Amino acid sequence: MAFGSARVSGLPPYLFSVIDEKKKQLQKKGVDVIDLGIGSPDLPTPDFIVKRLIDELKDPENFKYSGYSGCQEFREAVADYYKKQYQVKLDPDKEILTLVGSKEGIAHIVPALIDPGDGVLIPDPGYPVYRSAVYLSGGESINLTLNAGQGYRPDFASLSEEECQKAKLMFLNYPGNPTAATIEIDVFEEAVEFAKQHNISVVHDAAYDLVTFDGYKAPSILQVPGAKDIAVEFGSLSKSFNMTGWRIGYVAGNREIIQALSIVKSNTDTSQFLPIQKAAAEALRSDLATVSANNFAYNQRMEAMLKALSAIGIQVEKPRGSFYIWARVPAGYSSQKFSEKVLEEAGVIITPGNAFGPSGEGYFRISLSVPTERLNEAVSRIKQLDLEVGRHVPRS
Ligand SMILES: *Cc1c(COP(=O)(O)O)cnc(C)c1O
Repeated sequence: MAFGSARVSGLPPYLFSVIDEKKKQLQKKGVDVIDLGIGSPDLPTPDFIVKRLIDELKDPENFKYSGYSGCQEFREAVADYYKKQYQVKLDPDKEILTLVGSKEGIAHIVPALIDPGDGVLIPDPGYPVYRSAVYLSGGESINLTLNAGQGYRPDFASLSEEECQKAKLMFLNYPGNPTAATIEIDVFEEAVEFAKQHNISVVHDAAYDLVTFDGYKAPSILQVPGAKDIAVEFGSLSKSFNMTGWRIGYVAGNREIIQALSIVKSNTDTSQFLPIQKAAAEALRSDLATVSANNFAYNQRMEAMLKALSAIGIQVEKPRGSFYIWARVPAGYSSQKFSEKVLEEAGVIITPGNAFGPSGEGYFRISLSVPTERLNEAVSRIKQLDLEVGRHVPRS
């Protein structure tokens, strides 16, 4: 007997599985594999957040169901954060909703806004969850090419009139995963104008809003005048406060979109555990000093890795945000071939760019979310790689 709907069986094969199989084989042979594939912070959640969680755990009032839209304190903290960080005013009751991590929001907003057969513009290359969420809702993903030559701005001119007609929803993501692209507000202005012209709702995924360096401050799409007519923004505490396992995020912006999402959610989950929401409120209300300390660490790791790549002839412009490096594979390699080579000969896992969409072919992604000693070890192994095509020097 076989289990799984046709829809689930038809999910596109997971490119990571090939690499995962190789990883296991190498580990069995005793190779010390360093995983630069995953994007999950290695640093601990800051103490003041953990402390608030512990305090709230002692109050039995917190053991009950949260309200469907999340607890008041958390939604107010999000509203205050937007006012302070972006000078954007939000109604915590109607324009903000707690999410059980932003991935949950991405998965549920698609069925909340589209019907089977509708088109969804997804950034190519982009976070794979957009594409699978659209697939699971019976929608049709339309690749929105990010233009590498223009700092990975969306290339709206590359869409056909038919695609513009079909699209009901658009995802954007800056600072970007996997590209590490950062933008100025004009990109959001252009996106909002384009979306209004074609009656498209916009979801901006701001998972890396605070993971920035070199004085760069990421804009919010809600800073664009009139953005709230058609757009929402997803925020997450996962990356900026090292809270991936806590599962806490939020959506902010257009109240009708949020209302539609909350209908799907109230039939699916009952928001997050109250102590987690309250501890997350504490995080958003902080002076963000712990975020700066994190960014300092990522910045140092980034510089070390960029030097190693440069030593083997791979030049990358230093990103201003995210904890990823997105680089071209050397001449003569496909994304898959290069990733396999780095794994077999250096024992380092990197992600082949084509895992993020067709435009990712010819690139690879390195995640810097591993302890600095491990990253340094990866750096020294990568520096020794011989990239001449055809030469194969397996480790031990
Ligand atoms: C990590 C990540 C998410 C998911 O964040 P959670 O809040 O932990 O669910 C969403 N979008 C992008 C682009 C990410 O990299």
